[in-house]
Amino acid sequence: MAAIVIERCPQYRLEEVKEQLNQGLELLGGLARFVGRGERVVVKVNCLLAAAPERAVTTHPIFLQAALQLLKERTDNLVVADSPGYMGFLAASRATGFEAVAKAEGVQLAEFHEAVKVECAEALLYKHFKIAKLIAEADRVISLPKLKTHGLMYMTGAVKNIFGVIPGIRKTEYHLKARQDKWLFAKMLVDLYRACPPTLNLMDGILAMEGNGPANGAPVPLGVILLGEDGFAMDEVMARVVGVNPERVYTNAVYRKYVLAGREPAIELLGVPLEEVVRPNFQPIRDVQSVIPEWALRLGKNTLTPRPVFLAERCTRCSICVRSCPVEALKLGQEKGVVWDSRACIRCFICQEMCPSGAIELRQGLLSRLIR
Ligand code: SF4
Ligand code: SF4
Repeated sequence: MAAIVIERCPQYRLEEVKEQLNQGLELLGGLARFVGRGERVVVKVNCLLAAAPERAVTTHPIFLQAALQLLKERTDNLVVADSPGYMGFLAASRATGFEAVAKAEGVQLAEFHEAVKVECAEALLYKHFKIAKLIAEADRVISLPKLKTHGLMYMTGAVKNIFGVIPGIRKTEYHLKARQDKWLFAKMLVDLYRACPPTLNLMDGILAMEGNGPANGAPVPLGVILLGEDGFAMDEVMARVVGVNPERVYTNAVYRKYVLAGREPAIELLGVPLEEVVRPNFQPIRDVQSVIPEWALRLGKNTLTPRPVFLAERCTRCSICVRSCPVEALKLGQEKGVVWDSRACIRCFICQEMCPSGAIELRQGLLSRLIR
């Protein structure tokens, strides 16, 4: 049975966050259970892009600092790392506050560059991956996911956070393989997580994101921290905390169906009772696909898959989406906004994730709206 601890923490006050993390770790048997003295530990944050902490796009720097201070009691061999979709991690770390925290704590920040092959022993589809050497060679990986909605996977949490261990541009290869098949992408994430599971997940749900996530949704104060070893169990609890059916999250549904063979996940909840932290009226992503069977979705394709819509009035013509699109389906308009080639688009939603101005929304097709 997978143990997941729920802790309440209303704000980003360093001592308070540290106290709650420590309390949660004690319920899991103490940090010493997970990190040996002097071990090489990589702390994998969520650094989707260079966004200020109050936007709730990335792991909050105070959350990172609290985790680092606890980890430093076990080892000084620490590195904080990630691989954002568009720019380098070091450059993005200035805006996210990671740079200042790393400096204050005397901890190194690192990019994921070099990749090595790892195998997924019981793969659903993807038998091996090229992941960051830094991750593959670490004694321990501590993952710090952010609780958010996600245009492609419905929500992003512990399992999706591990996608960042695939260095930079290589991530687009997986989007290209899955094209607009969300179930295929979810199977890839499940295989990837199982190929390189972190030692421990500490989820930052103090300030979460609802609506148009993972980059342009609305920050929402949840005041919750989740701790646990099993990322699949954690994402089940994450969904329940925001009042979402866990099976709407694609990776949860895939894991239940193919790994647990339809069984309910066995989860032991520790800490604060779930019912005390459940958030009513959480605004999920607009998505009807996760309630449609895989076969029907494949038949329906474009009529059932949301499409990116480009809001010229918000667009600053920074061209990040144009450069991020893996199939060159975008170009800057002659005078304003972005021109979208619907036939080329594989609905990977990387553009929506990367847009720093909230100028890209996902809209359902007519059939999906009718189903809703
Ligand atoms: S236009 Fe956006 S959703 Fe379509 S393929 Fe390009 S990045 Fe993906
Ligand atoms: S849609 Fe967003 S990412 Fe694309 S050019 Fe406009 S502001 Fe930049």
